[in-house]
Order: sequence, then structure tokens, then C-alpha cells
Amino acid sequence: MSFNQPPPLVDYNLYDADAPLREALEREGAAWAQDMVHDLGRLAGTQEAIDWGFQANAHPPELRTHDRFGNRIDEVEFHPAWHRLMEVAIGHGLHALPWREPRPGAHAARAAAFYIWSQVEGGHGCPVSMTYAAVPALRRQPELAAHWEPIVTTLDYDPGLREAATKRGALFGMAMTERQGGSDVRTNTTRAVPVGTGGEHLLTGQKWFCSAPMCDAFLVLAQAPGGLTCFLLPRVLPDGTRNRFHIERLKDKLGNRSNASAEIELDSAWAVMVGEEGRGVRTIIEMVNHTRLDCVIGSASLMRQAVAQATHHTAHRSAFGKLLSEQPLMVNVLADLAVESEATTVLMMRLAGAFDKASDTEEAHFRRLALAVAKYWTCKRAIAVVAEALECHGGNGYVEESILPRLYREAPLNSIWEGSGNVNALDVLRAMTREPESVAAFVVEVERGQGLDVRLDRALADLKRELANPSDAETRARRVVERMAVALQGSLLVRYGDPAVADAFCASRLGGDWGHSMGTLPPAVKFTAIVERHRPATN
Ligand SMILES: Cc1cc2nc3c(=O)[nH]c(=O)nc-3n(C[C@H](O)[C@H](O)[C@H](O)COP(=O)(O)OP(=O)(O)OC[C@H]3O[C@@H](n4cnc5c(N)ncnc54)[C@H](O)[C@@H]3O)c2cc1C
Repeated sequence: MSFNQPPPLVDYNLYDADAPLREALEREGAAWAQDMVHDLGRLAGTQEAIDWGFQANAHPPELRTHDRFGNRIDEVEFHPAWHRLMEVAIGHGLHALPWREPRPGAHAARAAAFYIWSQVEGGHGCPVSMTYAAVPALRRQPELAAHWEPIVTTLDYDPGLREAATKRGALFGMAMTERQGGSDVRTNTTRAVPVGTGGEHLLTGQKWFCSAPMCDAFLVLAQAPGGLTCFLLPRVLPDGTRNRFHIERLKDKLGNRSNASAEIELDSAWAVMVGEEGRGVRTIIEMVNHTRLDCVIGSASLMRQAVAQATHHTAHRSAFGKLLSEQPLMVNVLADLAVESEATTVLMMRLAGAFDKASDTEEAHFRRLALAVAKYWTCKRAIAVVAEALECHGGNGYVEESILPRLYREAPLNSIWEGSGNVNALDVLRAMTREPESVAAFVVEVERGQGLDVRLDRALADLKRELANPSDAETRARRVVERMAVALQGSLLVRYGDPAVADAFCASRLGGDWGHSMGTLPPAVKFTAIVERHRPATN
């Protein structure tokens, strides 16, 4: 055993080690899923699963455009570890739990499970998330949903390009972004020409960022005669032949390297319309809403894994005669990170709970605004948290084997896809203008914490003033969204969080008794209690 080198963080249960998650699972009505999440937490802490995560990233997917005889195949080959990760994710229903078991708390249960399992590896969450998210959009076209839903909601991971009806399970992706624009999808140039009856079209054009191209089918936006429309495009046609979906190349990405993201060419590819012609954005937004929830969950998961690693490392490493976790300045950094992580976990579970209560009008209004606010803020915070947690490890954190470099490269992604930061902030403004009820529902939720902490009360009063001010709305959008996010997190924490965490959050994020980097909490904070709550107990 090397002197003063911490033991690896392994053989622990990620669920048992996560008090904020356990509390939230119960609060959001998903206690029935405890055994499943617990099982996943145990598996996620094993050396075997951790190795899968490293292997899937050390051996990224490879494109095979042609077979040995020169025929186009447009396939991507993955390392076996990728398939193991996918098997576990699909086997635990992370792609379909609420559609398989539409009971109260199902989205919350799935959120908790997705958050736990993503800590092992983030990249494979992409097709898992897109498959989960495709179902509500598919339901806009009931006969398509009747055909596809039974196949995409099984617990079988059945990779390979074959006709979907012959498979034990199928996955979905989405292709919206084009070379000339991803945020402004209305500029899409892919053409859809109607053929036959029943909404069949042939699609021609290019998509610039199409992830997980080995999925069985894609929801694609294209210009039909009646305007931008959503289509279902299978990779294999009903007669068993390949659709004309050609993979030009795979992106060489900053992170998310286990996952393939492709540039694709659609050459009169067969597709069938989903939802109304000319209402493509409205149809696919059902999918985007669910993948946005997963961006929040993904960010929470990155933060949690980073905090788990940092609190573990510093509890076993000494400098200047003391454990790092006993050095007052390090404790301040760790507590600050833990506060951010807990605030995010609590918010993520509250949001997932709102998805469960979608039939309640108030909850639906709350979700409309809170989702965009949370997507903006938690994705931004993940970047700062992971970077600072990496530094807690010193040089060891800069080395691949520590997992921190992988978390660091993954962190900016959630803020880019499904609406980059600015676009998300502008979406908050859009919701406020078009659905003013969502503002009222948001404020009511924050007010539920009123009277419990004076700093929250003041932040709420400030927020109301900000919301009432219509001037320079676009210029102020990020400022307003930030304030909304921390007010909501503060309200959730004073009601449901650990009291020491809630106090530290209100003092720093709401009361302004804070600096510009992590580790600047005021001295009255209960540092040790906070850090110990977040440190995974290992044997
Ligand atoms: C790893 C990865 C995987 C992806 N997978 C998929 C996929 O599977 N399917 C898919 O369709 N897409 C995918 N994308 C694409 C992603 O959704 C787009 O990159 C994203 O929507 C932004 O579009 P863009 O890249 O064209 O940037 P642009 O639209 O050019 O935006 C550039 C910047 O300008 C900002 N901006 C845009 N409009 C405004 C405005 N009005 N005011 C102020 N600022 C503005 C944006 O916030 C952004 O920061 C993926 C991206 C990544 C990184």
C-alpha cells in the first residue's frame, strides 16, 4: 500500500451513500422503487461496473461505412463494455419505467435510477434518455405508438440493425440539428416529399449532430409541403432492407466519447409523419421536455459523483500533518460543493415529481417554467462543481484513472444540447410571456418556503421585483433565470433539505455572504456535518 495514497472509491452502494436522494425518493412518492434503485446503487459501486465505464471511453465507437464487398452498411461498432452498460440501463427500465409502470412516483423513481447509474458512465445515457423521451412524442400518433411502444418499453437490450418487429427491444434517437443551425431549427433544409398514403414521406438532407446512430428509429424534423414536420425514420424498413440513412463520419468530441455522434445524410430515406404537418416543433418538444429533464439529472449525477470522489479522497489524504478533510479551508471547499450538489439533487427530484403529476394543472404550469430554469442553472453549476472537485484531488485528479477528467469533459455537454444556455434562458422568457400561469405557479412553489428563512424571504421579494420588470428582458435573461433557480432551490432546501445545508445555501446563494469561487462560505456554517453527510462511508 502506497503511503498517503487514498484507497479507490469502490465496493460501496451509491444509493445508501446518498442521503439527499434517499429522502427525495420517499418524498416524491417513489419509495416503492427503493429495492430497484438500491440494487443499481450496489452494482454502480462494483469494480466491474466502474471498469465498464473506463473501457467504453478508452475504446470509443468506430464507424464502418461499408462491408468487405463495398456495400454500404453505415454501422457503428462499440466496445463490449458499452453493451454491458446498456444492458444494465435497459434491464432496469431507465429508458421506459414510467411508460411500463405508470404509477405515482414513476418519473421520480426513474430519475433516481438514471442519476445513480449515470455516475458510472455518462455517454450511454444518451440513447437511454432519447428512448425514454420519444414515447410522449410518439403518442401524438396513436397507431405509431401502438406499433413501437411495446418494442421500446421491454427490458431487453437487443442491439443490431434488424426490422424492429423481430427484435426483443428497440431504441430511439433524434435528428434535428443541421449544419446551418441547431438552436434555430426552423431553418432546417431537409425536405420531406409525400409518397403514398398514411403519412409516408421520403426525406432528403443532412443532419449535423445525430447521436447514437445505431438506434432503431429516429424522430427527425424536415420541411414537408405544409411546413416543418416531425417524422419517424426507422433504420431498417418494414421489408427488412436498410433505409437510406448514411453515416458520413463520427464527431471527434471533447467528452461523451463512449457515445457516437454522427453527421448523417438522408438520401430519399423513408419516414412516416408524427403529429400534424407543419407542427413539427410542437410534436418534438414533447421529446425535448423529457431529455431536458435528463440534462438536469445528468448534471446532478456529475456533481454527486464529483463530490463523492472529493470527500472520499480528502478523508484519506494528509498534508501538513493533518487529513485534508480536517484542514479548515479544504472543509469550506468540500462543504460548498456538497451544498451545490444537494441543492441540485433536491431540485431534480422535485422536477421529476412534477412530471409524475402532469395531470394536475398547477404542477404542469410549474413544470413548464421550472424545467427551463433548472436546465439552465444546474448544467452551468455542474461545470464549476466538477472543476473544483477535481482540484481537491491535486495532481491525482488530473489523471484519467481518477475519473475526474472524464467528468470534467462531460460537464459542459448538458448545457449545450437540448437548448444551449442562452436559448434556454430565452425559453424561460417565452414561457413567461406565452404562459403567464407558469410564473404564478413557480412563485407559489417558492412561496411555500416563505417564513422559514429570512434570506429566502428577501430573495423572493427581490425576485418578484425582477419578474415584474419588463425592460431589457433579453439582456437580463440570465440574471433573472439565475435568481429564479436559486430562489427555488432555497425554498426546496428550507423545507426538505438538511438544516445545515439549507442554512449554508441561504447564507451564501441567497444572502450574498459568499465569494466568487467555491470554498467561500461564511465561518458560521456547520462544515463538518455537511461534508460528513455527503461523504460515502466505505469499509
Ligand atoms: C455531444 C452532442 C450531441 C448532440 N446530439 C444531438 C442529437 O442527437 N440530435 C440533434 O438534433 N442534435 C444534437 N446535438 C446538437 C445540439 O442540440 C446543438 O449543438 C445545440 O442545439 C446548439 O445548436 P448549434 O450547435 O447549431 O449552435 P447555434 O444554434 O449556432 O448556437 C451557438 C450559440 O449561440 C447561442 N444562441 C443561439 N441563439 C441565440 C439568441 N437568439 N440569443 C443569444 N444567444 C443565442 C446558443 O445558446 C449557443 O451558445 C448534439 C450536440 C452535442 C454537443
